[in-house]
Amino acid sequence: MNPTTRAPAPANRRRLERLRGIWPDVVALLAPRRGTLALGVVLMGVVRATTLVAPAAMKVVIDDVLGARRVDLLLPIVIAVAAATALQAWISHVLTLLFSEASQRLTAELRGKLHAHVMRLPLLYHDTHKSGTLGSRIHNDVAGVQDLIGLGLLGFVGTLMTAAFSLAVMAHFSVRLAALSLICVTVAATIAGAGTQRIREISWKRSVIEGDIHGRLLEALGGVRVIKTYRAEAREEVIFADGNARLLDNTRETVALSARVSLATTVLWGLINAVVIYVGVRYILDGTLTLGGFFTVTVLLNYLAAPALQIAAIGTVVMTALGGLERTREILREPRENADPRRLASIGPIAGEVRFEHVDFAYTPGKPVLHDVSFRAEPGTVTALVGPSGAGKSTITGLLASFYVPTAGVIRVDGVDLATARLDPYRAQLGVVLQETFLFEGSILDNIAFARPGATRDEILAASRSARVDEFAEAIEGGHDALIGERGVRLSGGQRQRISIARALLADPRIVILDEATSSLDTRSEALIQEALGRLLVGRTTFVIAHRLSTIRRADQILVVDGGRIVERGTHASLVAAGGLYAEMHRRQHEPGAGQRGGDASGMSSASSSRSSSSTRTGLVR
Ligand code: ATP
Repeated sequence: MNPTTRAPAPANRRRLERLRGIWPDVVALLAPRRGTLALGVVLMGVVRATTLVAPAAMKVVIDDVLGARRVDLLLPIVIAVAAATALQAWISHVLTLLFSEASQRLTAELRGKLHAHVMRLPLLYHDTHKSGTLGSRIHNDVAGVQDLIGLGLLGFVGTLMTAAFSLAVMAHFSVRLAALSLICVTVAATIAGAGTQRIREISWKRSVIEGDIHGRLLEALGGVRVIKTYRAEAREEVIFADGNARLLDNTRETVALSARVSLATTVLWGLINAVVIYVGVRYILDGTLTLGGFFTVTVLLNYLAAPALQIAAIGTVVMTALGGLERTREILREPRENADPRRLASIGPIAGEVRFEHVDFAYTPGKPVLHDVSFRAEPGTVTALVGPSGAGKSTITGLLASFYVPTAGVIRVDGVDLATARLDPYRAQLGVVLQETFLFEGSILDNIAFARPGATRDEILAASRSARVDEFAEAIEGGHDALIGERGVRLSGGQRQRISIARALLADPRIVILDEATSSLDTRSEALIQEALGRLLVGRTTFVIAHRLSTIRRADQILVVDGGRIVERGTHASLVAAGGLYAEMHRRQHEPGAGQRGGDASGMSSASSSRSSSSTRTGLVR
């Protein structure tokens, strides 16, 4: 057996303690449905009471109709039994409809709430949580919660009712036999309960394994190109098979345990029957119990014992549902990125003046990535960020997009501290064009409109023209309405980039963050992108993680980032004249053969520090 399927006892204890703490959440979840639940409990009471009419009537049939020849009682009894059965059937039908609807609605609400919450969690949360696992949470765990109302809660209440009613009727015929039955059934239920406790623990583990498998599967499907390139199909198969085997082990363990519990309960059930028959017949012989009373008690014993033993099974359903709910609530308790009470400042239309004042930042506490970063960008200017890989350029732009909050220092946009600004109005004025353009499955038009869903077709087409998307869109079948496949697989890298520029143009932002593509593009494609970018950047405060010399030359200021610090700043000319690191980088790039070697602006300092990553970035030096 795989060791991971057997959780250590302290972990189980901790989990059970956590589950105990979940009751306020359950109450909060069920409170809005208290009317439906109360009605359900009443109807359930009626259903369970009516099920006892037939066995109770048998006492009268045996003792009075047959024993005392009271034939006149037969018809009323038969009518009562038929009416009770019809009523039971109808109410059960109503209950099923009522609770299926309620539990489905609960699931849909919870799933929607969870999805909305996950989308609004800070980027730092997404950075540290697997998207596939989150997907599994939204889908599977919430589906488990569905059972809480129907099968779980109502089943539990119904079971208790049946047991209580049966016991009351049994006690009416023979208090001693009812007491004996109760003792036997309690002992049996305790033993069965102990067995199912272990099943609950295993089923808890199963949902974790399922989350892992699902997560990895999504990653593998998303990265199918990389998998094929590196011939990793077989490796993925092994990883999947391992997860599958863990799941199989887990299921096998559940099945084996369930079978053992079932065996034990069947044996116990036989013993209880034997004891009750033995004692009951002795009572008949003593004259303290009638034959009809005995018959009814033995039938009711089923009604008492079956639900008592079922409670364990219902417990499994409830525990699985609570497990799902707990994991769901765990995510819902994570603060949303705009939950910070300081975020009250509503930024109006901005000019685009940006100031970083002594900004420090760490993704992981104690591991700073940026140190004392300070600079100012005037509205409408271009700031180029250059430096080696891992220097902190993307982190600076991530902070500017307010994806992260500085650990020290302040970022001001038009004088407003970004950490206190409401995110939506700010981000509405921000355009981001990344190297890795993210496109959705849909048409070219849909993908451009993503920036501003209310935009008219004419506005979208205008953005398309400015970004030179029309140049290829009109050439393909379906034009702007052509579907581009998942993540835009039917387009080239350059085409995808132009869509992303069109998107940013449509958003009409005041601040643009641009991560220039490092991959080589042919001259024509490069020229088209430069033309599109030229239109996008004009009049907007722009931050470019620059790889192209042309971009750097026209930048109003260049910030050279190294090791999380700004080590030099100025214009291209002033930095070259200063003879520092940038000048050294520039000189190296212009050494004979550097053009063939390639090398981009951001890679130049890495060249100076003897790194070779830049040598792969070709076609950018002109
Ligand atoms: P490149 O040119 O290669 O994109 P960069 O200059 O943009 O590099 P950053 O991406 O800002 O560099 O990374 C700066 C440092 O922060 C690196 O050491 C990197 O490992 C680390 N880092 C980046 N993103 C994260 C993250 N989400 N969690 C933890 N560390 C991160």
